[in-house]
Amino acid sequence: MKTDQLKASYRYLLLIILAGLSAACSEKQEVEKINQATNIDHLSDPIIVYSSRKQHLIEPVFVEFTQQTGIKVEYTTDKAGALIQRIKTEGQNTPADLLITVDAGNLGYAASEGLFQTINSSVINDTVAPHLRDEQDLWTGLSLRARTIVYSTERVKPEDLSTYQALGESQWQGRLCLRTSKKVYNQSLVAMFIAEQGEVKAEQTVAAWIANLAIDPTSNDTKVMQAIEAGQCDVGIVNTYYFGRLEAKNPDLPLALFWPNQSVTEKSGVHVNVSGAGILKYSNNPDQARRLLEWLASEQREGVEEAAAPCRGRGRGR
Ligand code: FE
Repeated sequence: MKTDQLKASYRYLLLIILAGLSAACSEKQEVEKINQATNIDHLSDPIIVYSSRKQHLIEPVFVEFTQQTGIKVEYTTDKAGALIQRIKTEGQNTPADLLITVDAGNLGYAASEGLFQTINSSVINDTVAPHLRDEQDLWTGLSLRARTIVYSTERVKPEDLSTYQALGESQWQGRLCLRTSKKVYNQSLVAMFIAEQGEVKAEQTVAAWIANLAIDPTSNDTKVMQAIEAGQCDVGIVNTYYFGRLEAKNPDLPLALFWPNQSVTEKSGVHVNVSGAGILKYSNNPDQARRLLEWLASEQREGVEEAAAPCRGRGRGR
């Protein structure tokens, strides 16, 4: 039996019990009691989150949410693709209320597969800038991340750098390290190139990068920086928080970040993406899921450690 059918049966049982206990009450009073009872039942339901964000990032956030609201959160972490497939397989029987994941590419894919319902939140609309939310209101960004160039301060002068595309020039032959294109971060970066310059130029850029690779593509951004530090290559492309994480461990890290595509003729600027969330179409608890989303996007998040900058504040891209 589906959970919502169970809840309907439970509410029907409550109706009978309350009717028996309060025979002297007016019909209106009975309805109020039933509503209160069902609301209490609903509040006691934990919000079920499927998250591709790592446990050490989301656990403290959910603990604080529960402390502030009394609403419990249960979660499962996995890779975004696996979670999306799981939601598709579970269909109407999914226990999950919310999908939290990195990258607009993942969120857009989940939306295109019909996994989300509209958020319908004035709090989200007032808190998160429109360009960081889905046009159909199916998902919202919750934090921002920038994907930029990292270079060796020992072997590269920042004035030698200019654009992402220029990393395909001959001066970087055998000096470039990149993360694998199997991961969504570089896919989204190249999607931006396609949107801004067309497929032909985007393909030329990627082919030129490949020709300049010093080593095989790495499995993650940290390994790109470690390869530069070890002298295997001189430049790479990474999300900035990975740099911050490495620099926190080693303040003397011989690496620095460079913000490419900044000239007035370069329309794009640095590639920025979001991590975000959407309420699942078959959520049994959409009101509470919306409340968690609103809380995550709001100023109440102040002081909670996160990997990237919050999206709150219209157009405040920090
Ligand atoms: Fe990441």
